[in-house]
Amino acid sequence: MRIFLRIVRNFVLSASPYIPRRSITMVNTAAPPNPIKRVIENIPKSPQDNRAYRGIILANDLKAIVISDPAAEKAAAALDVNIGCMCDPWKLQGLAHFLEHMLFMGTKKFPEENAFEKYVSEHGGQYNAYTCEEHTNYHFDVAADYLETSLDRFAQFFISPLLTESGTEREVNAVNSEHENNLTSDSRRLDHLSRVTGDPKHDFNKFGTGNKDTLWFNPQKEGVAVREELLKFHQAYYSSNIMSLVVVGKESLDILTDMVVNMFSEVPNKNVTVPHWERPPFAPEQLQTQLKMVPVKDVRSLNIVWPTPDFHPFYKTKPGHYIGGLVGHEGPGSLLSALKLKGWSNTLHAGEDDGANGFQFFMLGVDLTEDGLAHTDEIIKMVYEYLNMLRAAGPQERIWAEEQQIQEIKFRFRDKEKPLGYARALAAGMQKYPIEEVITGPVLVSEYRPEVITDLLKYLVPENMRVAILSQQFKEIAGEKEPIYGIDYCLEKISKEKIETWRNVAVTDEIALPPPNDFIPQHFDILPPPTAIHRLPLLIRKTDMSRLWYLQDIEHKLPKACAFFELCSPAVYKDPLHANLTHVYVELFKDHINEMVYMAELAGMKYTVEQSKYGLTLLVRGYDDKIDVLLNMLVEKLMHFKPDPKRFEVLKEVYGRQLKNFFASEPNRQSMWYFNVLMSELCFTKEELMGAMDALTFDTVVELGPKLFAETYVEGFVYGNVSRKKAELMMDQVETALRSIATKTPDAHNRLRLVQLREGSSLVYHRENDVHKSSCVTNYYQTACEDSRMNMLLELFEQIINEPCFDILRTKEQLGYIVFSSVKNVSGVLGLQILVQSDRNPSHCDQRIESFLQEMEKFLENLTENEFQTHIEALAVKRLEKPKTIMQQASKYWNEIYVRQYNFDRDNLEVAILRTLTKTDLLNFVKDYLLQNGSQRKKLSIHITSTVPAKNARKKRSADGDEVKEDKPTVDPAPVTLTADKVDSPQTLKSKMGLAPLPPKYTDVDTVVTGY
Ligand SMILES: [Zn+2]
Repeated sequence: MRIFLRIVRNFVLSASPYIPRRSITMVNTAAPPNPIKRVIENIPKSPQDNRAYRGIILANDLKAIVISDPAAEKAAAALDVNIGCMCDPWKLQGLAHFLEHMLFMGTKKFPEENAFEKYVSEHGGQYNAYTCEEHTNYHFDVAADYLETSLDRFAQFFISPLLTESGTEREVNAVNSEHENNLTSDSRRLDHLSRVTGDPKHDFNKFGTGNKDTLWFNPQKEGVAVREELLKFHQAYYSSNIMSLVVVGKESLDILTDMVVNMFSEVPNKNVTVPHWERPPFAPEQLQTQLKMVPVKDVRSLNIVWPTPDFHPFYKTKPGHYIGGLVGHEGPGSLLSALKLKGWSNTLHAGEDDGANGFQFFMLGVDLTEDGLAHTDEIIKMVYEYLNMLRAAGPQERIWAEEQQIQEIKFRFRDKEKPLGYARALAAGMQKYPIEEVITGPVLVSEYRPEVITDLLKYLVPENMRVAILSQQFKEIAGEKEPIYGIDYCLEKISKEKIETWRNVAVTDEIALPPPNDFIPQHFDILPPPTAIHRLPLLIRKTDMSRLWYLQDIEHKLPKACAFFELCSPAVYKDPLHANLTHVYVELFKDHINEMVYMAELAGMKYTVEQSKYGLTLLVRGYDDKIDVLLNMLVEKLMHFKPDPKRFEVLKEVYGRQLKNFFASEPNRQSMWYFNVLMSELCFTKEELMGAMDALTFDTVVELGPKLFAETYVEGFVYGNVSRKKAELMMDQVETALRSIATKTPDAHNRLRLVQLREGSSLVYHRENDVHKSSCVTNYYQTACEDSRMNMLLELFEQIINEPCFDILRTKEQLGYIVFSSVKNVSGVLGLQILVQSDRNPSHCDQRIESFLQEMEKFLENLTENEFQTHIEALAVKRLEKPKTIMQQASKYWNEIYVRQYNFDRDNLEVAILRTLTKTDLLNFVKDYLLQNGSQRKKLSIHITSTVPAKNARKKRSADGDEVKEDKPTVDPAPVTLTADKVDSPQTLKSKMGLAPLPPKYTDVDTVVTGY
């Protein structure tokens, strides 16, 4: 289950809130008159999938899949080029990634710098791109009516990009800022370090993100013209024969095919051969090594990597999946269970990791407790005990067949994907699988070939491994420094004796192959629709202790369901000590049940237990067949849970480090946290929580158990392929279990409130950060309390300024890589947020945001009625896009219950109001609430200032060391100089300001609906 998740080492264009080989050889026929060489109909798909597919190979060898979905509200497209950063010139590392950024900056046919982004964003869409070892993937979605016009703009990226001189000079700053944002990520640091300590001549060794040194200063010194190199790279590698394209739209297959033919036939074919790397990225002398790395955060882990040949050709057997599933198993007899019993690790990931065309890796990673760090050799020994057990037992058809069955069920009842992510994944998949198998290939296993499994196991031996250990304890012994990330480390050879011991380690009784999985669902019947059809959740059960909301799904027709139960308890957030106690209690509980629920998780069930300020939320989801069994097991175990003293010590220490590590997190994350601390009626600071750690003892945790549910109130929601009777039964299970403990019912109907800023207030809160090189400013403009019209005015304004915000503050002014605007709706209070993470001083960025807002007034005034209506429709499309899965739909409804507003039909109600808004309405709103001197304006700015000395600050020097002039702002300076009142602490803010009222409830929460 928890197989190794690929370390995020792709570099994306934009860090906006939403965040990923082998070409197919085609027979070349002589200059066919037909623009299409080959058509592939009837691509095998899930029986659940009602979209139509067609594969086409164009005359220029570009391969494409068009997908027709008449019900699609949004269309999407993705194009994957089978070239990535491993093809960067050695002297210009990061070039493939830099080019990825530059393609968005204008084409011959649409020369405006932000032409594509503007068009897509004005029509309800979003866009992004990523670059990894051997892929560069571009993707976007848009309101379904605007697919053709967007696709026309998109296709030009690959036909005639401008790559302007001025854009090149500016966008390199965005790439640099992106790299600086990555600097403190320990997973990226480890990934980079393992590359650069490998074979120095191997392309895998390159620094794929690039920074201003590799892409600007160094090439300039050597007289290399960067823009020319970008053009050369595009010229050399952007060839139709190594591109794969996916287009999803509401049009018919024939119309979609025509679009692709018309727009992409022009992409030139340079007959590029997809590179293949025969040689592994580690030479023999780089194996049997142990790397000790000092992390930025206080984390400890042990990671093993075994280079292997490319096993992708055996995707029908998936040997890496089989071995990863066993080594990474968390059930009885697993390696993780044995490590936990010793008190050395708490989590384990294992599985194959893509390398590139020709080579691959198998990885294993465990976190380390303090004691675990002292026993890393023994942990490695246990890993080989497990691997030797697998070797001795040989491949097991029973286990392989079980996995085959689970994957088949998953495929048969597959959830519908959102078009954007789907197009992105399929386009990348087309480079790896034949078109006929692009949907089935990545999921299904169909050929049991034990010899392939045995073959992969041969590589998982001590002679072929590299070990990396992370701990801040290595500060003293780390004699070497990696220059790009500034990583302190040391690298040692593992002794022959150790290798020999690990090789021959005997198998013990502690470990065993997993037992058969009883949680695999057996029944998949879809309930008949109810006699009375309801569209929105209904209150179907109410007692002095609980309320239950319910809706039978009739949209998705899948044998799946979700059930949420919020167990409200005043004990969980009474004071910082109780917040800590509850956290550790929940972690101990999850740890305790892990072996049991892991089997259910493998079979496609999921559960979460989450702590909030109000209590604990239980969520169970997956196939409805066994959902009540899982819920009952959870509740029973929770009510009778007795913490374990040894596990307490381990998990308390983990929690203490998590609290401390907050101060090393990215400035934009810190800023969002400080918003909560300042504005929420009740929110303990990290310092307060850390201050209460000493009082957190095993005895206090044990005492918490009975207190936790002494006063409980439950609010629940069941959605999916579940009858009303079963939903009521589930609530009954929860309530009966609680009644055996609860002594009274608290008034838990109310939520916490938000600080209401006073009209005319302009506040600033300062914090410093000594870990990150970037600073960050978040400007929050509080507008109004929850009200459908006010919601839509603000959302509409944000829709209109979203793209200009990115274009002006990021692309033109180059303030930093992370720049975005968003609407905040917290505790029923609305506000606009604009965040900029930058190497500039926060006051400067604050001023630029203000100027930008002033400029937006003119921008609004100049919008034609037509443009204004386009934005209204773009927002309407976004809001009315139907959730694609049962879980997405359930979460949307649950959120209304969780915030106690119960506005289940929010999207329809608000869009109806949106469509009545005029430009004058919006201008008045913006002037009153958002602009300087507006009568209703309320502003809070959070400034996080980096105290790390800046290197290569871009205004300080150019390549030859000359002083470079400050970039000229693109918009006029704000007419009024910024003045702000300093907020000393969250307490002073709260004592000066009042609290906003609670939002209204949109549904009657007292009357139970009968006769469903
Ligand atoms: Zn990027």
